[in-house]
Amino acid sequence: MHVNDELSRHFRLIAPQTSALRRLGIRTVRDLLYHFPSRFEHAGASSTTRTLAPGTKVTLVGELGKLEAKKLWKSRRAATEGLFSDAYGKVKVTWFNQPYIAKMAPQGTLIKLSGTVGGSAERPYISNPEIVVLPAGTVVEEGMFEKSNPLNLEPRTLFPIYPETRGITSKWFFHALKRVFSEHAHTEIPDPLPSDIRARYNLPDLATALIWVHTPEEEKHAIAARKRFAFEEIFAIHIARAQERAENTTLPSFRLEGADAHAQRFLDATPFAPTNAQRRATEEMTADMQKPYPGARLLEGDVGSGKTLVAAACAYAVVHTRPPGRTSGTLQVAYMAPTEILATQHFNSFIEYFRELPISIALITGSGCKKFPSKARKGEATDISRTQLLKWVKNGEIAMVVGTHALIQKSVEFQHLALCIVDEQHRFGTKQRRALARKGDLTPHFLSMTATPIPRTLALTIYGDLDLSVLDELPPGRAQVKTELVLPNARARAYEKIRTELEHGRQAYVICPRIDEPDPAKINAIQAKSVKAEAVRIKKEVFPDYEIGVLHGALKPSEKDRVLARFARGEIHILVATSVVEVGINVPNATVILIEGAERFGLAQLHQLRGRVQRSTHQPFCFLLPETRGTQALQRLRALEKSSDGFALAERDLELRGAGDLYGGRQWGMSDLGMEALQNARLISAARAEARVLIEKDPALTTYPALKERMERAGGALHAE
Ligand code: ADP
Ligand code: MG
Repeated sequence: MHVNDELSRHFRLIAPQTSALRRLGIRTVRDLLYHFPSRFEHAGASSTTRTLAPGTKVTLVGELGKLEAKKLWKSRRAATEGLFSDAYGKVKVTWFNQPYIAKMAPQGTLIKLSGTVGGSAERPYISNPEIVVLPAGTVVEEGMFEKSNPLNLEPRTLFPIYPETRGITSKWFFHALKRVFSEHAHTEIPDPLPSDIRARYNLPDLATALIWVHTPEEEKHAIAARKRFAFEEIFAIHIARAQERAENTTLPSFRLEGADAHAQRFLDATPFAPTNAQRRATEEMTADMQKPYPGARLLEGDVGSGKTLVAAACAYAVVHTRPPGRTSGTLQVAYMAPTEILATQHFNSFIEYFRELPISIALITGSGCKKFPSKARKGEATDISRTQLLKWVKNGEIAMVVGTHALIQKSVEFQHLALCIVDEQHRFGTKQRRALARKGDLTPHFLSMTATPIPRTLALTIYGDLDLSVLDELPPGRAQVKTELVLPNARARAYEKIRTELEHGRQAYVICPRIDEPDPAKINAIQAKSVKAEAVRIKKEVFPDYEIGVLHGALKPSEKDRVLARFARGEIHILVATSVVEVGINVPNATVILIEGAERFGLAQLHQLRGRVQRSTHQPFCFLLPETRGTQALQRLRALEKSSDGFALAERDLELRGAGDLYGGRQWGMSDLGMEALQNARLISAARAEARVLIEKDPALTTYPALKERMERAGGALHAE
């Protein structure tokens, strides 16, 4: 048996197994080896309460009852006592100094309990056992613990549970892998991790790790193996990123002499004082632009932190620089936004910023083109044809182009594109970024901006090819959003607050998790409120005197624009919407937002949503209306009441929900294990540092053939798309 053999050569597979394997993307022995279990279970209880020998370790399955917190009078220690029972009898259990234990194991739920038996054979007890709550619906039959040992393992041996095994059992995987291991196929794969790195972080070699990850005899082996593969994955990502960066420095770009001084002058002339963070980020980017190779930077800044000003300062430096060897004209800037609304908004801002400059600015979107200034009417923008725009951009007459995706179409060509700015960059994939980068003669400098507060470890991994600047400071004088968790019985109070705001001439958002009513067949499963139904309901029952609009992703772009324009003009008072409003919409008169089904959103996303009402000096309000009363969900939401720091909230999200859930790991081609590892900041910075050192030494990986092969096999997996 060899690693590249098709599984069907060695295993007799029935049809459902074949299709299950296909669905899981498992074709060869190698694929099988790299399909890791998602968790382990003990083969069952090792014992029952009938036979408890003092001094032995046991695992029991049953229920806890009579939990009681006590203070032991002799030692004054806090203890929790309870009575554990299975089908055979009862045993006393005690935990010292673990007051939370009662919460972890609600009475009457089925648990697995492991610990060492104390006391005597007549009066045994177990102190400080570990407990695991078993999934609801686990059936316990009398005597099952002794009989049920499906894999015929020793008691307490771990057996692996594989993800998504419809059509094929975990047991099948277990036995198939046992055979792979006994025929040594797993030893054929060269270890991509250099041995010195393995030694430094105490990671098992590949062959050992493969055995440990699938069939560990002890839990610590399983953990060590998973850590190794997580490290390997993150390391490979950083190798790829480091290679991209190395490649980047070989590309010629425009060297903008004096960019820092130009940008400085622009910032000094703004009507308000730039924040320190804005100054720092601008300096970082203009320093990049003075190098002979393209700068590539990610600007992360909370909603309202003023990223546009940084972009404008950098753009200002570009439109003040002549193309090399010329005595007229300027270098060019492209600014790409994710929606027409935002593109138009920014076009107007840039007209304001650059009004005094002798340059032309253009707007290109799917629905048309504009240019400023107009030849006929000075100081105004005018409609122009697409052909005209393309011509002027190509011959360099237009210095700055703002647009949507329309900017990256093939037909758009620049003369000397020196700087690309992409707003809300998480909406654009690497491919689109690259497409934009190939539009001029030299490679432009690149500035991405996002308000998604991605925790640093994650940003460094996902966007490891970019340098990072952070705006960690809001302009002074912003009123903090007053955020309040509203339980179902207090809903009326939130509506009263909205009414008060409306009466003062302000506007409101109501956010719902869904667009449509759920399929009636699934009505019990999903109760989330829908935009359409909620808009009808509040019009009828709560706000009959106000104009209510509806906005969601399924509307046509022109329809979306129409609704937003009406909202911006104040013709719509309450906008009922899905989370589509989270990106960059700016209606300063909207001061209150109510979010239905709030627990369905990530903390960072909720923070983005409430940022929509923090666009002016009026006191903004945010009401979170969860559907559940689950204490965990409510506690998570309470973090929003307390914190107004988007980054802190994102870190917390990452801890609580994991990266996969939040940032859609699948789209980067990362495994669950890799996503899990993103929560481990130390592992990430170690993997990153090692990758950088290695690529600096040997960018083409000539002395690391196994690593090189792994990189090629991964086929550039993990794109920040
Ligand atoms: P975002 O980072 O969300 O893109 P914007 O660039 O849209 O934020 O800025 C939000 C608002 O703050 C704009 O109206 C802008 O004019 C204003 N602003 C930006 N910088 C400052 C500053 N230093 N002082 C006061 N207001 C500022
Ligand atoms: Mg913005």
